[in-house]
Amino acid sequence: MICSSGEAPHDSLDRAVALALQGRALDAPALAAVLACCAAGNAQGGAAEVPRLLAGARAVRERHAGRRLEFCAIVNAKSGACSEDCAFCAQSSRHRTQSPRHPFLEPAEIVRAASAMQARGATRFGIVASGLAPTEAEFRALCEAVTLVRAAGLAPDVSVGLLTRERLRRLKAAGLSGVHHNLEVARSFFPRVCTTHSYEEDVEAVRLALEEGLFVCSGGIFGLGESWEQRAELAATLRELGVRHVPVNFLVPIAGTRMADRAPLGPSEALRILALLRLMLPEAALRVCGGRGLVFGAAGGEGQRELFDSGASGIMIGDYLTVAGTPPEADLALAEALGLAVAGQGG
Ligand code: SF4
Repeated sequence: MICSSGEAPHDSLDRAVALALQGRALDAPALAAVLACCAAGNAQGGAAEVPRLLAGARAVRERHAGRRLEFCAIVNAKSGACSEDCAFCAQSSRHRTQSPRHPFLEPAEIVRAASAMQARGATRFGIVASGLAPTEAEFRALCEAVTLVRAAGLAPDVSVGLLTRERLRRLKAAGLSGVHHNLEVARSFFPRVCTTHSYEEDVEAVRLALEEGLFVCSGGIFGLGESWEQRAELAATLRELGVRHVPVNFLVPIAGTRMADRAPLGPSEALRILALLRLMLPEAALRVCGGRGLVFGAAGGEGQRELFDSGASGIMIGDYLTVAGTPPEADLALAEALGLAVAGQGG
């Protein structure tokens, strides 16, 4: 078969890898070949091109990120009772779940969690709170926690919903290093996932943090029923914004949420998602966070080995927001066994 560019699809796939190795954006035929390969891999028996796709993504990762694996960690500083209605989230007040609920933690408690993860290899530490935006009292506690985490020798990041420029500047003055704000899904899929705020508000939050010169981490969640084209649409938006640190989450279907009955992604599809993101965002740090254990299996096992050797360049260690993670020691041992240098996320 010859595609509209006049190239055979496998030539377009090779060219996609060549463009990504140079850090360049994929043109339309190259992206079409990557998407065709990703989608064909869903079919029974898979597609012959998939091993080439995965090998290409691995080469691009090694070109731009080296044989390093970056680790980071978070604390759920305020859990549950969120005003928003994100379909996958156990913390939405619209969902009846068993997820923990607690008000904003004391700053001293946050810094204790940070120090524990620092001892296990994290150099950045994310303070995460549910809700569209912190109250003024929560915000003051957040600033204090940021200062304490910085004093403990970690780079403090926050993920606390929408922040105004004025609040970003107050946090910077307190010692903030970065902002984590996921776009979650493509603009065209967002109305299926969240109706309580607009996609543009999320894009604006990312843009403001970038304008303020902060380390910005923004990615999404996969496995909600989005198409391959919508996965590419999200990656294109992140690229346009200039995001260089991209967390990748895979759905963990949680009882009581609107996604409770969705089957989780298998490792093969997840690896192809990582390959697509790696080829579209060749120089970005791609860090696998939520759903890693569910999709890739037990710590230190074959699935995790494949992940560590994929287009991804980092993982989150320790626990996730509402789901327990894998033991950090097993991740560190596997990285070492694969000859990967372990590093905290740079900024
Ligand atoms: S993803 Fe964030 S904003 Fe959405 S419901 Fe969960 S905590 Fe709230």
